[in-house]
Amino acid sequence: MILMNNFQLEPEELKLEELSAVKQVLDSGWYILGPSLDKFEKEWSQQCGFKFSLGVGNGMDAIEIALRSAGIGVGDEVITTPMTAFASVLAIIRAGATPVLADIDIGTGLLSPESAQACITIKTRAILLVHLYGQMRDMEKWQILCQDNSLMLIEDCAQAHLSKYKDKYAGAFGLAGAYSFYPTKNLGCLGDGGMMVTNSAAIADKAMMLRNYGQSKRYYHDEIGLNSRLDEMQAGILSARLKWLPEFTKKRQEIAKKYLTQIKNPKINHLLPPQFEEAHVYHLYVITSQFRNELHDYLKGSEIQSLIHYPVPIHLQTPCKEILRDANGLANAEKHAETCLSIPCHPQMSADDVNKVISVLNKF
Ligand SMILES: *Cc1c(COP(=O)(O)O)cnc(C)c1O
Repeated sequence: MILMNNFQLEPEELKLEELSAVKQVLDSGWYILGPSLDKFEKEWSQQCGFKFSLGVGNGMDAIEIALRSAGIGVGDEVITTPMTAFASVLAIIRAGATPVLADIDIGTGLLSPESAQACITIKTRAILLVHLYGQMRDMEKWQILCQDNSLMLIEDCAQAHLSKYKDKYAGAFGLAGAYSFYPTKNLGCLGDGGMMVTNSAAIADKAMMLRNYGQSKRYYHDEIGLNSRLDEMQAGILSARLKWLPEFTKKRQEIAKKYLTQIKNPKINHLLPPQFEEAHVYHLYVITSQFRNELHDYLKGSEIQSLIHYPVPIHLQTPCKEILRDANGLANAEKHAETCLSIPCHPQMSADDVNKVISVLNKF
């Protein structure tokens, strides 16, 4: 079976580096908010050109902490997409704010600037822009839209590690960005982990308190915070894995290029190619087809795993039926949910695997 991810096939050298990182933490006798986290935060900042990186418990907390650090809470509306991980919207709700869903562009699956514009009210304070599948697109447009309407731009970078649009990495276009290190992300740890990034010292200071109960100095608390810290062991493992990330990212992009040029079947559509090669890191390679369910079963019959990201848009999820949304509806998101399919695209795939996926799809 060609799987969507296969960590067992990762290089032995990487596994040994991870074990050695764990041993180092064990020997240090210091397990929370220590030198391994400091080191990984600096490495991540350096790699992506951020002033501040703050390790937190997971990607969802990173979004909540970013929003709360920006002063967003009860009574504030935050515009985002219905085509995302549930965590994006859950984080807005957890911050006390009100999510408002705008529709997507059907060609990319990304939030539509026109629909987002239509969702702006006097209560709107921010846009949570999700770089879905690893794609960054039209970033100037989002910056201008936010500027013109006095909105804050917060980026959900959970699928976009090392995605680079012109001269900047995901997370550097607005007030703050949120990364997840959930195991299946492009940079994942061996459990839960996340990172909030920002170039603002004020946001970083507030986030530092919020991740640690709201504590300003030991045993003194200025905020109602969270307990959300990236632990030393995961930070050590992430430092080891970060060294491999550029190479792994390139591998994903090479596979995607082959898929884009060699998968040719009138029953299968590709999403729009990225505006710049580096602006898509292919956390997922997504195709669409009006025969999606048949395609999924057919791939399974040929020993190729595929998954749907995402089968149910947020506004059709049970607790979100009343969620605010574009008055024109969210038809593109609903259509995408019915037609999208993610096919294997990960750094441990062999050339044979890639060729098999292509030829099997071309015979559908
Ligand atoms: C994975 C993901 C999250 C949540 O990250 P966790 O670490 O699982 O909390 C948020 N947004 C998007 C787009 C994601 O893919």
